[in-house]
Amino acid sequence: MPLTANDPKRKTWLDTPADTDFPIQNIPFGVFLTRDDIITIGTRIGDYAIDLGALHQLGYFKGIDLTDDIFLQDSLNDFIADGRKTWRLVRNRISDIFLEGNNSLRDNKEHCNKVLFTMDEIEMQLPVDVGDYTDFYASKEHAFNVGSLFRDPENALLPNWLHIPIGYHGRSSSIIPSGTPIRRPVGQTKPGDYAIPGFGPTKLLDFELEMAFITTDSNDLGKRVSINDAENYIFGLVLFNDWSARDIQAWEYVPLGPFLGKSFASTISPWIVTLDALESFRVEGPAQNPEPLPYLKQGKKKNFDIKLEASIQPEGGEETVVAASNFKYMYWSMAQQLTHHTVNGCNVRSGDMMGSGTISGPTKESYGSMLELTWRGKNPITLKDGTQRKFINDNDTVILRGFCQNEKVRIGFGECSGKVLPALPF
Ligand code: MN
Repeated sequence: MPLTANDPKRKTWLDTPADTDFPIQNIPFGVFLTRDDIITIGTRIGDYAIDLGALHQLGYFKGIDLTDDIFLQDSLNDFIADGRKTWRLVRNRISDIFLEGNNSLRDNKEHCNKVLFTMDEIEMQLPVDVGDYTDFYASKEHAFNVGSLFRDPENALLPNWLHIPIGYHGRSSSIIPSGTPIRRPVGQTKPGDYAIPGFGPTKLLDFELEMAFITTDSNDLGKRVSINDAENYIFGLVLFNDWSARDIQAWEYVPLGPFLGKSFASTISPWIVTLDALESFRVEGPAQNPEPLPYLKQGKKKNFDIKLEASIQPEGGEETVVAASNFKYMYWSMAQQLTHHTVNGCNVRSGDMMGSGTISGPTKESYGSMLELTWRGKNPITLKDGTQRKFINDNDTVILRGFCQNEKVRIGFGECSGKVLPALPF
């Protein structure tokens, strides 16, 4: 099916800012509360949020096989479960409705009033009810840096890393939408040569600059997804800040991996940008050497060129960009991750979320966490207000942004932001 919505020549009759993350070629999906406190599934063009539940009730999706209440829900799970053909039909139709020259909605003021909202009239919610969340560890630079810091630069990459997309099962209950504050966690830590562990608020609170993809039902229990089929089951992507307490993590992670150092909160951006919208930003990934096993061998252009950045904003102060990375640095692609995830017969369901792992690039500015950027606090970062950061302070807001851009079009993700509140007194 042609992705007519991707045509860079398309213009919308809506008034949109020139440099918007959300041109008519994007058409992401999200869930929001309207001014009347009604929850609905929607999309966004420029600075307008568009109520898809209302559009459907008014008959604008006629001819597409959709249940009556598909958009009148508090999550996208059922819509995502309808599969790729339906996502494409709906996205193409939305593009047509708002296409310059199509006046059927534009000239119907009553319908426009029901369908269109400005961003300050709505409140974004979590877009999916995440059943299971898996976090990978798929950037070679990040794995090398963390291996050097936590273990030994000589053996930074463990022997399995170049053969397996390493991952662990994360906690889905604490995934929160952008704008939700987080509490500094407390826990056990054991710095350096201390004989016994200490306890208290984490001193090494960090962000992780990641992206995450949302899946549809991909395989029944006992079956698996082939590498060539994997992308058919990826609905879209969000920005993802996998908050991490490095001191808690360093003490607890042996032998079963991350636990409370990660599970206190993970923030996602609220608009899911479809994999379809990113189609023209495919690029080759890093060369894979040794060659992956046949079940993980993927053709060229398995990565996507998505520029990423992380900023720190002190309370009442200006933002400072502290990291600039790119999703294209991923060693293991999304398709390889999903294929590996199901190779043992583990079933993946609609609304599941897979984090990429911290996305670090080859240069020091492109490291995707404070752990790496400051080399565990050895080289503090100076913010625009003159204060220094080794890790994240109370009342700091961390903001992730991401976008793709070529000469013709910009497709962005908006913001993934979260403010750190002081630990609750114990
Ligand atoms: Mn992570």
